[in-house]
Amino acid sequence: MNPRPLILVVDDEPINAEIIGAALDEHYELCFAACGEEAVQVARGRLPDLILLDVLMPGMDGYEVCRRLKEDRLLADTPVIFTTSLDDQMAEERGLALGAIDYVTKPIQPVTLRARVRNHIELKQLRDHLAELAVTDALTGLSNRRRLEQALDSETARLARNGDWFSVIMVDIDFFKPFNDLYGHPAGDRCIAMVAAALNRAVRRASDLVARYGGEEFACLLPGTTPDAAVTVGREIQAQVRQLEIPHARSAAGPWVTLSLGVASARCLPGMAADLWVRNADRLLYLAKARGRNRIMADSFGVEAGKPAAGQEAEAREPVAGLGG
Ligand code: GH3
Ligand code: MG
Ligand code: MG
Repeated sequence: MNPRPLILVVDDEPINAEIIGAALDEHYELCFAACGEEAVQVARGRLPDLILLDVLMPGMDGYEVCRRLKEDRLLADTPVIFTTSLDDQMAEERGLALGAIDYVTKPIQPVTLRARVRNHIELKQLRDHLAELAVTDALTGLSNRRRLEQALDSETARLARNGDWFSVIMVDIDFFKPFNDLYGHPAGDRCIAMVAAALNRAVRRASDLVARYGGEEFACLLPGTTPDAAVTVGREIQAQVRQLEIPHARSAAGPWVTLSLGVASARCLPGMAADLWVRNADRLLYLAKARGRNRIMADSFGVEAGKPAAGQEAEAREPVAGLGG
């Protein structure tokens, strides 16, 4: 069962907070704040689904709280409903201009309050669902290219603070065009979905991200993962797909569906472009294809980061001179 939506009630008058709480506690989880400072603090700590915000409070008033919430990346989209005894057109306009979604006047009418809250919670859940769909690949349920780009930006920024390792694996199904030609497009779709599930089984840390990069190509972001550990993940990906034993009668790499992988690793430093990892992993993937497919090519690259990774075949560990392109 989904957890109940969480509502933050902000009011400096205990009796008001009590009335609002009594109107809502049957259907919602509630948390409370009695002043502006506390409201901002509780909102950051609990990330509520909706905030009922008193306008008139000593110290930081509701307008200022609203302004701060809208500046906070994590809270900017949280709907705010102002509650005030000011039955005042100006106050209403000011609140709405600051980004509040609605306005209710005190004394609170429980039935009206419940109806408004329900509507705004439903809208918020719909918005969240649409936002999730916009970054999800429909066939596989993996993250899509858009979320991958977002994660590359945020992870490189985060890891650069400590110069931590970052590894990216690019994965491509071998001889997939002949697979489609032989077994048909629907079977091709099922194959892509099975490989995606295998990737999810192999890539397990909470901070990792598996995305469908496009077609039959996938990308794995592995923050805080050293070159050796990333190759281990690559081997686990191959093993998981091998276990599926998806027949492929037109593959030159064996009787089953196989993968080629490019694994690029670098310590993340300030100023490094977020796309360096994908570009290097892509080059290594290309090398793995050129060498006959069904293999992992891995390398790390340095700060002179424009320089392409030289490429080591993970199994053989022999150096490869130069890179096509
Ligand atoms: P390689 O071993 O070099 O990777 O060869 P390949 O045949 O796998 O690669 P190529 O890029 O030539 O062909 C990719 C094929 O993947 C062609 C395309 O029709 C198929 N494909 C891309 N997206 C989908 C999809 O969503 N569903 C299905 N069924 N096929 C797809
Ligand atoms: Mg392919
Ligand atoms: Mg491809």
